[in-house]
Amino acid sequence: MSGSEQSEQISLFDLGGLAAAPGPVPTPPAMPPIALDRLPTDGRLPIPPGTYDNLEALFDHCRQCQRCGLAAGRTNVVVGRGLPTAPLMIIGEGPGQTEDETGLPFVGKSGQLLEKILESVRIDLANEVYICNVVRCRPPGNRAPTPEEIAACRPYLMEQIRLVNPKIILLTGATAVRGVTGRKDGITKIRGQWMDWDGRLCMPIFHPAYLLRNQSREKGSPKWLMWQDIQGVRSKLDELLGRSSSEEF
Ligand code: SF4
Repeated sequence: MSGSEQSEQISLFDLGGLAAAPGPVPTPPAMPPIALDRLPTDGRLPIPPGTYDNLEALFDHCRQCQRCGLAAGRTNVVVGRGLPTAPLMIIGEGPGQTEDETGLPFVGKSGQLLEKILESVRIDLANEVYICNVVRCRPPGNRAPTPEEIAACRPYLMEQIRLVNPKIILLTGATAVRGVTGRKDGITKIRGQWMDWDGRLCMPIFHPAYLLRNQSREKGSPKWLMWQDIQGVRSKLDELLGRSSSEEF
């Protein structure tokens, strides 16, 4: 190898042409923390889990909320009612007219029927249950909420579930099932089946409004099926709370 070839090869290991050894990797500029007072007005901002310390703080944000178009037509925001530490949570679709007027979920005819259904297996609505919906403002004309409206309101629902921390969640109707679990199955196919969602025990059941439209009590009718489902819920609740079915609630 000639002298010039040798020096050419050695120059391959020459660090002279490279940049100087890199210094510490610059840290990207920190994202400014999300101002809490912006959350209720900007539907694009996520509401991270753990944002709210308690249901009162969440209620406060919901009352000011403009995250989706349903805000424009509401009289009241319908956030939830019941025991804040309830072992049983019931999630519906959205507020109707009576709920919009009162600010309370499930107080119209559907709510009254739901109360009767719970009473039939001695589940005390006031002391055992927390009720809310997938959206907190009334959709116009009682239409189903859109996927965008459900998505905008979902962080509030997730926070309510986290704060109440129920042992069982009942999902009333297909919209509630879809809004919570993402499953698109028809309600008649999956009602009465226990399912695991996010580590929580859930059961889809008929929406009480559907039962109001189907009055038959014949074996196999929606009311008869609901009776089977709610007895199963009562038994599971007893089991999870470690009490016998004969004990009073
Ligand atoms: S439905 Fe939910 S996200 Fe939409 S404005 Fe009402 S509270 Fe906000």
